[in-house]
Amino acid sequence: MREPDSHPKGHIMPSYNRASLRFARGDGAWLTTTEGDTYLDFGSGVAVNTLGHSHPKLVQAITDQAQKLWHVSNLYEIPEQEALADRLCEASFADLVFFGNSGAEAAEGMIKTMRKYHASHGHPEKVTLIGFAGAFHGRTLAALAAAGNQAYLEGFGPAPTGFVQAPNFDIETLEALIDDTTAGILIEPIQGEGGVRDVGTDFLRALRALCDKHNILLGLDEVQCGIGRTGKLFAHEWAGITPDVMAIAKGIGGGFPLGAVLTTRQVGAVMQPGTHGSTYGGNPLACRVGSAVLDTVLQDGFLAQVQDMAIYFRQHLARIIDENKDIFTDLRGAGLMVGLQCVVPNMDVVTALREAKLLSVGAGENTLRLLPPLNIEKTELDTALAAIETACEALRANQKGDAS
Ligand SMILES: *Cc1c(COP(=O)(O)O)cnc(C)c1O
Repeated sequence: MREPDSHPKGHIMPSYNRASLRFARGDGAWLTTTEGDTYLDFGSGVAVNTLGHSHPKLVQAITDQAQKLWHVSNLYEIPEQEALADRLCEASFADLVFFGNSGAEAAEGMIKTMRKYHASHGHPEKVTLIGFAGAFHGRTLAALAAAGNQAYLEGFGPAPTGFVQAPNFDIETLEALIDDTTAGILIEPIQGEGGVRDVGTDFLRALRALCDKHNILLGLDEVQCGIGRTGKLFAHEWAGITPDVMAIAKGIGGGFPLGAVLTTRQVGAVMQPGTHGSTYGGNPLACRVGSAVLDTVLQDGFLAQVQDMAIYFRQHLARIIDENKDIFTDLRGAGLMVGLQCVVPNMDVVTALREAKLLSVGAGENTLRLLPPLNIEKTELDTALAAIETACEALRANQKGDAS
């Protein structure tokens, strides 16, 4: 007996709702379907295609490396991995890097490192990670337990223990959750999937002080907001603080699967041989692409340009929200990590935008995300703004149609 399903002919596990679009080519911020239709891509593969599609430097890095060496495993020294780690550490708080292949893997690595740190310092009882309601750290069981979203844990048996969530971004509520078993705090400086919620620089500074006071670790999940997305290389730089551990992925690979755990020397040093691993993690191919992404993002003036484009885009979005209060209520996020909170169902807006040839991504709290490539041009922002206005008119016409 067969259950009815939504893809009766296909062999792809039905874990995603997919728009019926098939893309054949990408060029900068533009995607072309197999039918020859073009779309402006403000989803960037969910904050992944930092430099758009087919960026010549990334194409060159990957083809050059592909002709030399793809993979050798972490049984050997990998110069391309060392070069990328050097670059990441030079540009951040970090002294040590562990490479993996995804955001969830980076979040897991961060969680394990935070616990191991205390165990190695004579406190094996310090295992509890305090996260936040609305967080997202990926789809592995520990990452799901850390975020505590019951809908995502449902049906998957017992969740790993040692995780609690603060209900809001209030420092006193948070401090009340800290006890002798607390290993650290886990937070996205800007919640992505949760609805582009910026926790704010004051809160990040208060978190740093709280962690220092209680001798616990601050772990940041910058998988989505990192690598230039907010106009600084890492979002926490806006607060002038540094974490003890940080997970990155998405933007660092520019479209190639790559993630990493960054730590201070003291914290990362506990991950001795045998404690953790990843077969593909940091292979030469991935690391060459990662270095090419960083080379570009760290070029003089690149992040300043991201900030300029973000100011321009946000000014016009604020105007559009003002003119379409029946559709949008709030502009969120920082830099080119843009959230538009909707009045109408957010996925209706995503659909209307798609019909206006602009790709966006849904998020929590009835928000949609606009995540253009970081090298987006002003004319492309204008095209996107026009598409958003077109979508608003279409949504309004539909509502009138429904009412009559
Ligand atoms: C997407 C995301 C993850 C998970 O990344 P995957 O590559 O899908 O495993 C983790 N944390 C944050 C903040 C994310 O946005």
